[in-house]
Amino acid sequence: MTNETEIIDPRWNRLISQSWKCASCTEEHRGIFDLACAKPDAYTGAEEYAPNSVVATSADGLSEDFCVLDGQHYFVRGVLALPLIGLPSQFFAFGVWSTLSKKNFTLYTDSFDIGEQASLGPWFGWFSNRLKGYPDTFNLKCQVRPQGGRTRPWLELAEANHPLARESREGISFDRLLEIYSQYGHSIVGLREPGAVAG
Ligand SMILES: [Zn+2]
Repeated sequence: MTNETEIIDPRWNRLISQSWKCASCTEEHRGIFDLACAKPDAYTGAEEYAPNSVVATSADGLSEDFCVLDGQHYFVRGVLALPLIGLPSQFFAFGVWSTLSKKNFTLYTDSFDIGEQASLGPWFGWFSNRLKGYPDTFNLKCQVRPQGGRTRPWLELAEANHPLARESREGISFDRLLEIYSQYGHSIVGLREPGAVAG
C-alpha cells in the first residue's frame, strides 16, 4: 500500500531550481514567491507608500509596514506562512495585514528600526485582508508575533478550523500552490503535468 503523504513531488525541485516565465502576467518568476496584499482591505486610500516614520505618528496613512486609518485603526504588515508538503526547507507566504491595539502598534513602531522585537508579543489582532479562494478571511482572529532582525511579524490564525489556518498548520501540496498562484493571476506552464518531469 502506498502512503501518498510520503511521496515527495519531484516538481518541487524543478520549480526551485530555475526561473520560469509566467504565462499569465508575463513576468519572470524565480522559485517560490510570496503573494502580498498592498494594504489592509479597509484602507481605501491610494496604494502609495509614505515613509514608515511618517505613518507611525500619523492619524491616517500607509507605508510598506504600517497603516493608520481615521486615527483609530492601526495595522501592521506581517507574514502568513504555509509550509510546503515535501519541501521542508522552504515555505510559501502571503504578505498580509493585521490590526493591533494602539498601545501595541506604538510598541511595534517605536522598536521597528532597532530590530529587537523578538521579545515583544504575541499580540491579538484581526486579520485584515480577504484572500482569494478561501471562505471569508476578513477579521479572523489572529496572533501577531514580532520577530528579531527587522523581519516582518509572523501571523498565526486563532480560528483553527478555518481552511487557511489548517493550511498554515499542515502545509500545502505542489498542486495546491499552483492553484493559489493561479487565483492570483500567475500560471506555471510545463510544471503542471507530472509527465513533464518524468525521466
Ligand atoms: Zn506571474
